[in-house]
Amino acid sequence: MSDPSILVINAGSSSLKFSLFEPGEGDPRQTLHGQIEGIGAEPRFSAAGGEGVLVAAVPLPSAGKDHEACLGHLLEWLAPRATVAAAGHRVVHGGTRFRRPVRVDAEVIDFLAGLSPLAPLHQPHNLAGLRAMERLHPGLLQVACFDTAFHADKRPEAAIFPLPRTLTEAGIRRYGFHGLSYEYIARVMPTVDPKAAIGRVVVAHLGSGASMCAMKNGRGVDSSMGFTAADGLPMGTRCGSLDPGVILYLASTMGWSLAAIEKLIYQQSGLKGVSGISNDMRILLASGEASAREAVDLFVYRIQQTLGALAASLEGLDAVVFTAGIGERSAEIRRRVLAGCRWLGIELDVAANAAGGPRLTTPGSPVAAWVIPTNEELMIARHTGEIVAAEAAAARDFPPPKDALPPPG
Ligand code: ADP
Repeated sequence: MSDPSILVINAGSSSLKFSLFEPGEGDPRQTLHGQIEGIGAEPRFSAAGGEGVLVAAVPLPSAGKDHEACLGHLLEWLAPRATVAAAGHRVVHGGTRFRRPVRVDAEVIDFLAGLSPLAPLHQPHNLAGLRAMERLHPGLLQVACFDTAFHADKRPEAAIFPLPRTLTEAGIRRYGFHGLSYEYIARVMPTVDPKAAIGRVVVAHLGSGASMCAMKNGRGVDSSMGFTAADGLPMGTRCGSLDPGVILYLASTMGWSLAAIEKLIYQQSGLKGVSGISNDMRILLASGEASAREAVDLFVYRIQQTLGALAASLEGLDAVVFTAGIGERSAEIRRRVLAGCRWLGIELDVAANAAGGPRLTTPGSPVAAWVIPTNEELMIARHTGEIVAAEAAAARDFPPPKDALPPPG
């Protein structure tokens, strides 16, 4: 068996994605990845090796239906294959308290549970993964890595709403999400576009959740998402920015309950709501229906608008980066977004974009555009590895007093 590995967990409502990384010189190396889908219904486990070769694909009939049972199956499956030294978890919200990854204990979990109302689709499931791991593997070093942390130093006026100060002080402020993805892009930008990396970059993370981030010199200065991950761009099923008057109207005039409004905002809107067909961009692009076209048009339009707004935050623009499912794989969406951004100095190279980049603009384009595959798991593995190394160094430098050791023999 090889050196102790880092297990990376991304626990969602019905799925649990995992990756195994071996620490070493430089970046940790991914040796396995996989997922358990269908948690709560018919769980199914699959895993692939570092090169993507499938090594397991089985239903889990006896695994029970919750996160703990499924994580238990994963640990059992991993036991003969790897020694897990630590687990790194993706956690969507760290509030104003956690500006960087943190070692998790019971107090930290309690604090994070208090943030669940701010990210109801993700936070409770992220914490289910942490709690299940603590019960199954007591004492294992666990690290929480936050989607909010990259945005912690954004410019002050981008961090607050125009609301009474007491509400800002109560934590109703603009946080920003997808931070692990943005942090990864910021780390690779110097090798992709060294000039832009120390300049002004807008990154569009376009997956089933979608947001955009303005970066100056590799640091987040503003983001399209605010208090919750429902803000900003329209997404697969989330509405994005909405006139607050709509919520008041639904509640007061149309008699909608809070639960119905929450469902509307998170699950029934965005691409799915507008098209009435699907939240999957591939299906909408292939559809001949007018409502599918309208949903895609709205998505593209709002990305273009947000790009303009974030370029204003940055007082100019050196590069745009596309990432995540739609950003990495849909040349059509990239083409349509960039074709409308000539005014910003973006000269699209149609053939390069169709070929998947990485550079999407002509050599003479004043502003460059790129496609860069994101890697949030690697960021979590790196952060977790750093905390493991720091704890090991602290234990070496400050060993426990001799009388705290058990008697010899
Ligand atoms: P998540 O936010 O769930 O991690 P992903 O980053 O995996 O999401 O992105 C999922 C989205 O990517 C889905 O809406 C899917 O339709 C879209 N997608 C994946 N492949 C393509 C493609 N070839 N063309 C257009 N959209 C795609």
